[in-house]
Amino acid sequence: MLKFTKKDILEISSLSVDDISLILDTAERMKEISERPVKKVPTLRGKTVVLYFYEPSTRTRTSFDIAAKRLSADSISLSGSTSSMVKGETLLDTARNLEAMKPDVIVLRHPSAGAPHILAKAVSASIINAGDGMHAHPTQALLDMLTVKQHKGTLSGLRIAIIGDIAHSRVARSDCEGFIKMGASVILCAPPTLMPKGIEFYGVSVTFDINEAIEGADVIMMLRIQKERQSGFFFPSEREYSRRYGLNLEKLKSARSDVLIMHPGPINRGLEISPDVADGPHSIILDQVTNGVAVRMALLYLVTGGTRNADSD
Ligand code: ASP
Repeated sequence: MLKFTKKDILEISSLSVDDISLILDTAERMKEISERPVKKVPTLRGKTVVLYFYEPSTRTRTSFDIAAKRLSADSISLSGSTSSMVKGETLLDTARNLEAMKPDVIVLRHPSAGAPHILAKAVSASIINAGDGMHAHPTQALLDMLTVKQHKGTLSGLRIAIIGDIAHSRVARSDCEGFIKMGASVILCAPPTLMPKGIEFYGVSVTFDINEAIEGADVIMMLRIQKERQSGFFFPSEREYSRRYGLNLEKLKSARSDVLIMHPGPINRGLEISPDVADGPHSIILDQVTNGVAVRMALLYLVTGGTRNADSD
């Protein structure tokens, strides 16, 4: 059996193809627990998971919390506004204090890119990055890969179109790394103002024409317009954006008949995606959410030594 040796989950680039395959396989097995009448196993009994969210989150935080509880870990939630950060304590001081209480895993969401990496060096608990600034969101990429794999059977050879606010999206960056690593090809589409310069570095292709992105795509991933991270005017008006870059039934006509529609959430209905597409037959958006729990269960299990302990069973 493959062994998982990483202490932390910080970004997709530090995971090998074997690591990703092991995480996805473990998540497949974890999924079954959530189907049971009693959705709880004792696997992580006695382990403590701290959920430290400096930025708002619905899906990611709830998903980690449910994942920890399904494995019988104790989870404690802290948010930026209720923590001592508002009293001026630095992230490192908070971490050292948390560490003194002996948690096994700290799940961190932070507005600054690199914050989880600083924490990982400073504490012995495992750190899982739940989104750092515009940099990375590795657990989202893993649940996206799992969802596509479940529907298509493989990731290799697929064409993935990622459309929307690429510039401000940590999801886009992590998805690019993950899908490319697993053998898919990725085409990015955004208005020129929302397409970061040099993004081709990830091995992706780029277009400003949504029809070109849609054509032939096996998967279309729509991204949220990240209003909270936008400091200027990136497009003339929401109406204009929606007309040119929003996905609606009309634009979907040129897509493959078996195309999958995804979105990491939260959705701006009517802006980047129309309700009839978001709720339509191609949409697997809620499967992404279901798989989020399974992936996070797998990660909590693996970073706390799941496969390392498996030998001694
Ligand atoms: N929930 C994702 C994130 O935290 C995507 C989004 O917010 O648009 O990055």
